[in-house]
Amino acid sequence: MCNKCDSSETERSHRSRSWLLRSLVLLAAFGGTAVLLLGSHFHSSVLPRSIPQVKPTVNFSVSRVAPPSWQPPEETGTWNLMLVNPWNPLPEDYSIDLVSLNSNQSVDQRCAAALEEMLSDCRTAGLSPLICSSYRTQATQQSLYNAQVYELIAQGCSREEAEEQAATMVALPGTSEHQLGLAVDIVDSEYQILESSQENTPVQRWLMEHCWEYGFILRYPKEKTQLTGIIYEPWHYRYVGKEAAKEIMNAGICLEEYLGAVSSQSPT
Ligand SMILES: [Zn+2]
Repeated sequence: MCNKCDSSETERSHRSRSWLLRSLVLLAAFGGTAVLLLGSHFHSSVLPRSIPQVKPTVNFSVSRVAPPSWQPPEETGTWNLMLVNPWNPLPEDYSIDLVSLNSNQSVDQRCAAALEEMLSDCRTAGLSPLICSSYRTQATQQSLYNAQVYELIAQGCSREEAEEQAATMVALPGTSEHQLGLAVDIVDSEYQILESSQENTPVQRWLMEHCWEYGFILRYPKEKTQLTGIIYEPWHYRYVGKEAAKEIMNAGICLEEYLGAVSSQSPT
């Protein structure tokens, strides 16, 4: 829990600390905005037109269960099953062939056709899906993470608490699937807020039912937060290929479980 102050502190030191905190938050917010503006200038081809902010929830926390280490697949065509999570960062030398989509977003070219087909069929069903985030550079991921940390500090968290919670809401740079190029955040254009109620939108209901047919999975299910290390995100879809997607979605498991990258003591 985040206590804004200790009751034993004197009022004077409280005022002084509050002023310092506000100054730091303002300075950080200004810096973060500048980085985002610079980022949008230099990376306009891959940045979303707008990045809906994850609604911070101060009291929410994900207790993670550290799994055994997982070995990345060799170059055997299993690129689609690459595991990137808090315990398995993206390899530093990982290279991606990006392709720009019509929506001014970019993904790994190997999943682009499946993504376009899924969205096209969703539109044919009379719905209005919108990709709000796709491939991200390390710099973009860092900016988003920093912004989340500052937001939580502004709500009263200590820096340590803020950094820990932020990592469950916006993955630490280097551990985000968005840097893999195989993940997209899709919202209903009628309701673009990234919060759990996104699951009730017609677009999410359609995607959750049909995503596997195109090789995508809902990557961070509600009941798997301890295994994924990430909060429930009913907007984040990950390409894993049709065969794996079918098995994962039908069995109601997460990618960590499918790959055997969870500890036998882990809760399910
Ligand atoms: Zn995402």
